[in-house]
Amino acid sequence: MSLSRKRVLVTGGAGFLGSHLCERLLARGDDVLCVDNYFTGRKDNITHLLGLPQFEALRHDVTLPLFVEVDEIYNLACPASPVHYQFDPVQTIKTSVVGAINMLGLARRLKVKILQASTSEVYGDPDVHPQPESYRGNVNVLGPRACYDEGKRAAETLFFDYHRQHKVAIRVARIFNTYGPRMQPNDGRVVSSFVVQALRGEPITLYGDGSQTRAFCYVDDMVEGLIRLMDTGPEVTGPVNIGNPHEVEVRDLAQRIIRLTGSSSPLVYRDLPQDDPARRCPDISLARQVLEWQPAVSLDEGLRATIAHFQSRLAAGREPAAG
Ligand code: NAD
Ligand code: UDP
Repeated sequence: MSLSRKRVLVTGGAGFLGSHLCERLLARGDDVLCVDNYFTGRKDNITHLLGLPQFEALRHDVTLPLFVEVDEIYNLACPASPVHYQFDPVQTIKTSVVGAINMLGLARRLKVKILQASTSEVYGDPDVHPQPESYRGNVNVLGPRACYDEGKRAAETLFFDYHRQHKVAIRVARIFNTYGPRMQPNDGRVVSSFVVQALRGEPITLYGDGSQTRAFCYVDDMVEGLIRLMDTGPEVTGPVNIGNPHEVEVRDLAQRIIRLTGSSSPLVYRDLPQDDPARRCPDISLARQVLEWQPAVSLDEGLRATIAHFQSRLAAGREPAAG
């Protein structure tokens, strides 16, 4: 390793967002250490990086202490889709809370910057719209989403306590719904589910009446936002919302995907899951101002790239049924 290269730790680096982040950091000349327990991540996501001398992958669970030497940490380890984070809720909250303590302890010992992948779920089912960072949220602490939402909220608290108490340099990104190539076809998230259903000609499952809203950010835009936040001056700790403010109803998303795939899939209606937020859209004024960042990829453009990705995966015939 050359002394001038930055060595960057990415936890959750074999996941959807993490693998794109590893790629982008390598492309700009950093050394990358990817740490993952492969709970929802896939070796396939990083196979193409394994031959690079600047890339290293380590199987490790962030709920256990980690002793490595790095210059910067992106903490992304945590299952992100409701199906996966509700599969083992105790492990989900441990990953957020104990994982944050372990990674913050590492950052403190090494005196390095650490970025937390927080989430719009800290706003719960919001009664302020769109959501600015100052909004304190409306989370059901007892519901099925709480293992994720409250875990991420506690992790934010830990980040700010380590910052105030131990002077750790922190960056907290509140990530809104992100989509793109390498999402898992069976993770139950809306974009991957609808695209796979449309490509297979299966019914598209709308939960509730489909009038709930989300705002979808393409993965390349998200990675750019995260890197800008990490690289910005020490006065910007966050939290900073990073997401695309183009809000759409879920049934509009279904119709777009049907149009873009040319599918004849019918729409079917299923029960709305408990505590499913009725609407969500980021106020990104702060990101625009302090990061000079805003999304560049339109929803149709991002969906086309995502559809092309799933088309080739399905054609390769190695995917399980959408769940
Ligand atoms: P993902 O499930 O694809 O990636 C998460 C990665 O973390 C996986 O590779 C998984 O194996 C790994 N992981 C889980 N528990 C671990 C543990 N205990 N130790 C080590 N590794 C562990 O999800 P993603 O969409 O890439 O999300 C990445 C991060 O971004 C998560 O922290 C998530 O909460 C956050 N986020 C994502 C979105 C989104 O829309 N994609 C929105 C908000 C926040
Ligand atoms: N959704 C849906 N059909 C599906 C999967 C999801 O209608 O097959 C809805 C879900 O109820 C929610 C929205 O799409 O209102 C986004 O769901 P996702 O799980 O992708 O993300 P989150 O709810 O965490 O924002």
